[in-house]
Amino acid sequence: MADGSDLMDKLVSLCKRRGYVFQSSEIYGGAGSVWDYGPLGVELKNNIKAAWWRALVHEREDIEGIDAAILMHARVWEASGHVAGFVDPLVECRVCHRRFRADAPEVAKQVCPVCGSKDSFTEPRLFNLMFKTFMGPVEDEASVVYLRPETAQGIYVNFQNVLSSSRQRIPFGIAQIGKAFRNEITPGNFIFRTREFEQMEMQFFVEPGTDEQWLEHWKAERMQWVQSLGIQPARLRFHEHESGELAHYAKRAFDIQYEFPFGWQEFEGIHNRTDFDLKRHQDYSGKKLEYVDPVNRDKRYIPYIIETSAGVDRTLLVVLADAYREEVIEGEPRVVLALHPRLAPIKAAVFPLVNKDGMPEVAGRVHQLLRHAAVPSFYDDSGSIGRRYRRQDEAGTPFALTIDGQTLQDETVTVRERDSLRQERVGIGRVVDYVRGRIG
Ligand code: ATP
Repeated sequence: MADGSDLMDKLVSLCKRRGYVFQSSEIYGGAGSVWDYGPLGVELKNNIKAAWWRALVHEREDIEGIDAAILMHARVWEASGHVAGFVDPLVECRVCHRRFRADAPEVAKQVCPVCGSKDSFTEPRLFNLMFKTFMGPVEDEASVVYLRPETAQGIYVNFQNVLSSSRQRIPFGIAQIGKAFRNEITPGNFIFRTREFEQMEMQFFVEPGTDEQWLEHWKAERMQWVQSLGIQPARLRFHEHESGELAHYAKRAFDIQYEFPFGWQEFEGIHNRTDFDLKRHQDYSGKKLEYVDPVNRDKRYIPYIIETSAGVDRTLLVVLADAYREEVIEGEPRVVLALHPRLAPIKAAVFPLVNKDGMPEVAGRVHQLLRHAAVPSFYDDSGSIGRRYRRQDEAGTPFALTIDGQTLQDETVTVRERDSLRQERVGIGRVVDYVRGRIG
């Protein structure tokens, strides 16, 4: 059984081999800590986002979705505290001029990890993690804009717009999925920490005084959602931020951590952000962001916010790491991605047992039946049946449908289930419902 960095190496190479994740700009030697999703990766990512959107927006009446732009007014980031406070202290090696986080272990040892120089580090200086660019043709201070480092601010500045255009009353939430950018100094661990990533964030607006209780509610909801993706509960835990760890806006905060091959790490945060953000935007914009109770109009307040903030890419890494298995079946090794069928990029693979006797034609028909029903299906007629199974096991495909001699007599196919390896015969007319019924 693989573990630690060995397991990460195996995952990275499986992701490339099967078309999940590729290094960005690979033919040019790669771009620093940026990754591209391939044909299977984009499907898995979309399935994770769809599961999140369904649970938070479609299945609930008290949450609205939005899609705010990445580029925002520069004042947003002054109000949010990111211009002044979204910084990491860095030291520079005076010999090779490379920069490192001041809290890196090599810095404590006073040895440059790149050129090996001793005692060559400068005093720490603060380095802002936001990517900065210019809006319009003139490159001056007045035209500075930032690539957003979190999606949340797009929700706060639209709080009144959503309130007045929907029929929501407090307590209610606004959800959004979108790209975020951070010029991380020490990115790494594959897609765990990257400079361009996606977030799924939900901001829940509540009456002050009810915030503690809503924090507990969202902690439970979010843990339950993660487990609904099939993640092993023993590899999940909460980590509460101690006072020194709390962000400037937070009253209380919890991470949901997963036991990655490189240790326990956060992939989602649940934060009580108090009324910090709306108050700051009210001060900086001069626009009232208070809530007026529709029943008792004398009751006005700036809502408290409970935030649930998950990284799409980190959740995807959780899903992949949790699904990866190495097994020996009847003396033969196999690698399998035991993905929840709802998340699997390909739901069914269709194989003609041999490329003759009319089997390819029937297999083609079954494949088209699935495709027309929008059930992602993959047709494979190359190599031995065993090899075809192995390829789909690695890709995480939950069902393999084989068209064999018996199919030609009774219109049934052999369905083999990826994890249990159980096989049963299903009539061609029932194949679509059979697969649909099991992918949830
Ligand atoms: P970390 O301490 O790991 O940098 P954070 O506490 O800064 O994370 P938040 O600002 O709370 O993270 O962001 C919420 C979520 O966004 C994280 O739980 C993570 O899933 C995701 N995320 C944040 N930064 C990155 C990154 N550089 N690459 C990938 N995902 C990220």
